[in-house]
Amino acid sequence: MKIKIISILVVLSIALVNFSCSQDSTMDALILTGQNNHNWQRSSIALKSIIEKSGKFTAEIAVSPGGGEDMSGFIIDFSPYDVVVLDYTGDDWPGETRNNFVRYVENGGGVVVYHAASNAFPDWPEYNEIIGLGGWGGRDEGSGPYVYISDGEVIRDESPGRGGSHGSEHEFQVQSYKPSHPILSGLPEKWMHAQDELYSELRGPAKNLEILAYAHADEEFGGTGRNEPMLMTITYGSGRIFHTVLGHAGGGLFFPAMECAGFVTTLQRGAEWAATGKVTQEPPSSFPTETESLRWGFFEDIYSDITPIKKRMQDYEIGKSDDCFNILKKLIAENLDNQEQMDEYHDVIRELLKSRKSTLDCKKILLKDFSWIADDSYRDIYEELKQNQELSDDAGYALGMIGN
Ligand code: ZN
Repeated sequence: MKIKIISILVVLSIALVNFSCSQDSTMDALILTGQNNHNWQRSSIALKSIIEKSGKFTAEIAVSPGGGEDMSGFIIDFSPYDVVVLDYTGDDWPGETRNNFVRYVENGGGVVVYHAASNAFPDWPEYNEIIGLGGWGGRDEGSGPYVYISDGEVIRDESPGRGGSHGSEHEFQVQSYKPSHPILSGLPEKWMHAQDELYSELRGPAKNLEILAYAHADEEFGGTGRNEPMLMTITYGSGRIFHTVLGHAGGGLFFPAMECAGFVTTLQRGAEWAATGKVTQEPPSSFPTETESLRWGFFEDIYSDITPIKKRMQDYEIGKSDDCFNILKKLIAENLDNQEQMDEYHDVIRELLKSRKSTLDCKKILLKDFSWIADDSYRDIYEELKQNQELSDDAGYALGMIGN
């Protein structure tokens, strides 16, 4: 199996008043995803948008095989990249990819650990040193101490217990602990984060770890009552790691936590710092206040890019997650009045129906569940598929949906 590197068209149609206008995108970023208990199909695109809108990077997305599939061909050479953004939690990577990753970091590579990437690989010691703190996956006192802030001091708490929890999603204030760090320098020291999960009780080796900012996990929302680390840096060998636990991307269509101006800004600055050790981006002209969150709604056009789900549809077999089709259904439902957008979806559907690379199961779903939007431009394709014994019934149904 070939590595699935997906290049996605950059959509830059919105006035970027909040961003540095310098477009010397000289550095290369790799966003690694493909398995996650979150909406990675969309979070990875949002991450790409955020990283590229810093003006510092061009980003590629590497999509792993799905959960339970053969991972042996998923070999990544990290060395060409200035920063690797981890949006992955799932099956073990092949040994070669694991080794490549550790060597990349040791040799000075930059890493951004994003949200549930801290859930990944509980049994891989080097990974846990690189991320500093992690949660879930059976993590406990054997994984390392809890780390949090109490009375202005960093506490390393060895007491037994689970690693990883969060209460209900809510808006919460993020408070700088190292305001002079390049990632935070010039930003307000307290800002209201948009609705998110407040990751708590993370534990891990926590070597060479510095907490940059924390949030109080209010018991009112099921929190620990502690000041939990939200933004961290770690060094590993010569490598620099920026770890943000913020940015939950759930089942909905839009993710307030990822649109938060504070999340976006710290991610952009954290990525640059991880890549270079410096931050040259100016603080944005608008930012959340201590009491008011601020969302930058600039993802609408990015959300409609379906390149990553196209590949998943093409490879679909019964028994695998069909979320890619559900995403397309949602997008179609939202864009029925948008002819330009619908033309793009039609192109993708017709291409998948025609392609020899698409599985029979993919074509069956497209014939059954998507023929209600078909027009005459589908007729020849349906006629041809009708000649295929295994698709004949479904293609006949689809033809009936066009009418005569
Ligand atoms: Zn989450």
